[in-house]
Amino acid sequence: MPSVTETVTAEQASTQQVEALDRSTAQPSQVPFSSWGRYPAYDATLVPLQWQSDYPAVLGKHGGMPAGALPVGMGRSYGDSCLLKDGNLLVTTGMNRLIAFDAETGLLTAEAGLTLAQLLDFAVPRGWFLPVTPGTKYVTLGGAVANDIHGKNHHIAGTFGSHVTQFELLRSDGSRLHCSRTDNTDWFAATIGGLGLTGVIPWIQLRLKPIVSRRIDYEGIQFHGVDEFLQLTEQYKDVEYTVSWVDCTGTGKNFARGIFMLGDHSKIPDQLTPSPEPKLVFPMDAPSFALNSATVSAFNTVFFHKQLKPRVRTLQDYEPFFYPLDKVLHWNRMYGKSGLLQFQYALPWESAREGTIAMLNEVAKSGLASFLAVLKAFGDKPSPGMLSFPQPGITLALDFPIKPDKSFPLFDRLASMTLDYGGKLYPAKDARMTAEQFQQAYPQWERFARYKDPLLTSGFWERVTAA
Ligand SMILES: Cc1cc2nc3c(=O)[nH]c(=O)nc-3n(C[C@H](O)[C@H](O)[C@H](O)COP(=O)(O)OP(=O)(O)OC[C@H]3O[C@@H](n4cnc5c(N)ncnc54)[C@H](O)[C@@H]3O)c2cc1C
Repeated sequence: MPSVTETVTAEQASTQQVEALDRSTAQPSQVPFSSWGRYPAYDATLVPLQWQSDYPAVLGKHGGMPAGALPVGMGRSYGDSCLLKDGNLLVTTGMNRLIAFDAETGLLTAEAGLTLAQLLDFAVPRGWFLPVTPGTKYVTLGGAVANDIHGKNHHIAGTFGSHVTQFELLRSDGSRLHCSRTDNTDWFAATIGGLGLTGVIPWIQLRLKPIVSRRIDYEGIQFHGVDEFLQLTEQYKDVEYTVSWVDCTGTGKNFARGIFMLGDHSKIPDQLTPSPEPKLVFPMDAPSFALNSATVSAFNTVFFHKQLKPRVRTLQDYEPFFYPLDKVLHWNRMYGKSGLLQFQYALPWESAREGTIAMLNEVAKSGLASFLAVLKAFGDKPSPGMLSFPQPGITLALDFPIKPDKSFPLFDRLASMTLDYGGKLYPAKDARMTAEQFQQAYPQWERFARYKDPLLTSGFWERVTAA
């Protein structure tokens, strides 16, 4: 159990730990709580929800929660969209029961605190897979809906919300709304991508997709430059999963070199066993000098050459294909105690090529290299959420160790370039966007605000709606 002075993550905030923390002070205790980026960390009171009926009950217990509240899942967002300074975090991971599954249609209904990892453990041995998955399986269904997350198949399948058929919404006035494409449709649209602000989602129904094998028919292709990336994107637009790693330390002939990774579920029937538990744990916070431009540049060179041939083709298990980082638990400790900033933009096609080249140049010039730079084309399937992030064009995700004097100014430059190129930043990954930038990129925010639950708010929302 963490001592109350340590920063707590949502994962540690399992019910027993929260209850133990509560018992140690006989009062609901405030603990420093951080998201995956570990920046910022805010004190908050952790309120575990075990049953759907707990939500109205905790409101009574805490006298209406004058400090405000916010549902949280696994805290795998990077910035402050799952944080609330001095507020109440309603920890949903205890509400993780499977409610119903139709093995004919793949329709699955579960409580919103169920993680994608838990869902896959149930579904894969039965021949079903997630319709859309992010780069980690340690997120909850509630988190996946509230950020309307996207995956490597966005160009074919759209966002996670596109596969959600219905859910319920609990509001702090005690009302319960059934939301679907035919019922309370405006609440359905506001809640998908609604950043947890419209109410608590107790359960969700979604449609899974059938598979016959755990394996992915994988191909990796080296590319040099943004134009080659765009050519490959066009050439492989009918392959279900495509994503690229890009070396953003490269300059000159190595500028924007990368590996274009593509895959489809194997059609050769195979054993559908559950995944083993990950065994590797990043043991401690890395010292601040461990990540510098030399180590990151070396990592990028090794990564580029790890694929010795320009093109490789293998059958690969889905775990390393979708979740390479999940192999090492707590890998965010690699960035040391100060944490990391994620930066992710979506640029429309009109400015995607030019903007991506300009921003990769800006990153290379800064010497503040990013380990994990991911480039992907979004498709044109409309997102069902009012505030959803994906739009047709290109998305680039980068992360930087927190060094306020260096990474903050770089981040701020990239953010204003994003806006200049007509793009937007991803709230799930953000800790720096200004109110002006958010409101320019998401002009529908005022319409969305009409659906916000008066009790619920977040660090992100307070920041981006500040006058
Ligand atoms: C390694 C890694 C890779 C990632 N890859 C991707 C990717 O490829 N694509 C992508 O889109 N994202 C990606 N993400 C981001 C991640 O998928 C999202 O931030 C996701 O929302 C996190 O889910 P969570 O359960 O941790 O929710 P949290 O981070 O705890 O919360 C996220 C939001 O969901 C709300 N919420 C949670 N539960 C409920 C509920 N029951 N009712 C209402 N609101 C709720 C919260 O209020 C908050 O606004 C990645 C993150 C990591 C760490």
